[in-house]
Amino acid sequence: MRITIKDKFTNKYKNRYPLIMKEAIFGKNNFKEGEVVDLFDSRNRFIARGYIGSQNKGYGWVLTNNKNENIDLDFFKKKIDKAIKCRNELYKDETINTFRIFNGEGDGVGGLTIDFYDGYYVINFYSEGVYRLRDYIIESLKDKSDLKAIYEKKRFDKGGKYIDDDEFVYGERGEFPVIVKENDINYAVYLNKGAMVGIFTDQKEVRKIIRDKYAKGKTVLNTFSYTGAFSVAAVLGGATKTTSVDLAKRSLELTKEQFDVNNIDWEKEKIQVMDVFDYFRYAERKGLKFDLTILDPPSFATSKKRRFSAAKDYKNLLVDAIKITENKGVIIASTNCASFRMNKFKDFVEKAFKETNKKYKIVEEFTLPYDYKTIKEFEEGNYLKVLFIQLV
Ligand code: SAH
Repeated sequence: MRITIKDKFTNKYKNRYPLIMKEAIFGKNNFKEGEVVDLFDSRNRFIARGYIGSQNKGYGWVLTNNKNENIDLDFFKKKIDKAIKCRNELYKDETINTFRIFNGEGDGVGGLTIDFYDGYYVINFYSEGVYRLRDYIIESLKDKSDLKAIYEKKRFDKGGKYIDDDEFVYGERGEFPVIVKENDINYAVYLNKGAMVGIFTDQKEVRKIIRDKYAKGKTVLNTFSYTGAFSVAAVLGGATKTTSVDLAKRSLELTKEQFDVNNIDWEKEKIQVMDVFDYFRYAERKGLKFDLTILDPPSFATSKKRRFSAAKDYKNLLVDAIKITENKGVIIASTNCASFRMNKFKDFVEKAFKETNKKYKIVEEFTLPYDYKTIKEFEEGNYLKVLFIQLV
């Protein structure tokens, strides 16, 4: 199938922009998911070859700018082997056995990620289209010498419903939780229970620096704590006490488990199943203050009481955090919201401190770590933004 790119966009694609955008294409199209398409300019010159895989972002992804390259098993084998080679340092490092081995367009195939959990390979398919190319991808992993099993997550809607059937694909079924290691911290993960497995490995640098530099002797509030991964890092770094707050009931057991697998006595820590915004009011009323306040909300969250959108409400979240953080304390503000960039995130910080009449200094700044490979042609792929903000 051929697609003609509008003149306005041809340079963009000649310069290797990877996303096939709706507005770059002429006319209405009835593409088939998984179909391989060739992009031409208006003078019929080949620009690129890609596949149709609809996500909210666009129609699909460019795979190659070489018209002699076919999209077949050999193509995927090469891409995946190259991506693994690129992470060689991590494979050799004995302090870590969980990381991302394939990061979408950063490694040459948008819509596809593969994570490694000590021999378990977990594939995330972000569209029906890329799922149709699944056999090539699975075949490309089967020869890995450290492979225990392959699991898959279908992270796209089919007829409005998330398909949540058996996620096991190949190898020996795992017994979960599997205990993985990241910078010598243990984490329990469940690879057979939906998209969220227990930790987000894109935060590894943040957890490490919390443990190594920011936790010692500090009281820590971890909001939107999920399984408490930041709290674990803080305790191991010598925090005097952690408080983990998440409204999901499952977070209580899962957080205890993360403490357990690191031989931490969770009875000394606080795990609060509660709406974070109610917790802020509670803390203010009780005059509670923390040395280190961690904010890591989802991009969007709807609870019975309220709606949170990072792009709209992050400033207010910071205002709440400032009120309950000690002088000279640090707020760790994190977001994975892809709809705004670091500069805008810093604007939220500026506005929040202005509103509360306080001064601050940004002391650390993180984006995605190197196993979450991104490319300069698609900066919007680097969605993670983390700021360590000290109150001065
Ligand atoms: N910080 C976590 C990941 C957070 S995932 C980590 O490092 O692993 C987002 C979490 O926010 C989910 O566990 C969800 O249950 C929780 N959440 C969403 N809205 C919330 C709210 N209003 N109050 C408390 N928790 C909330």
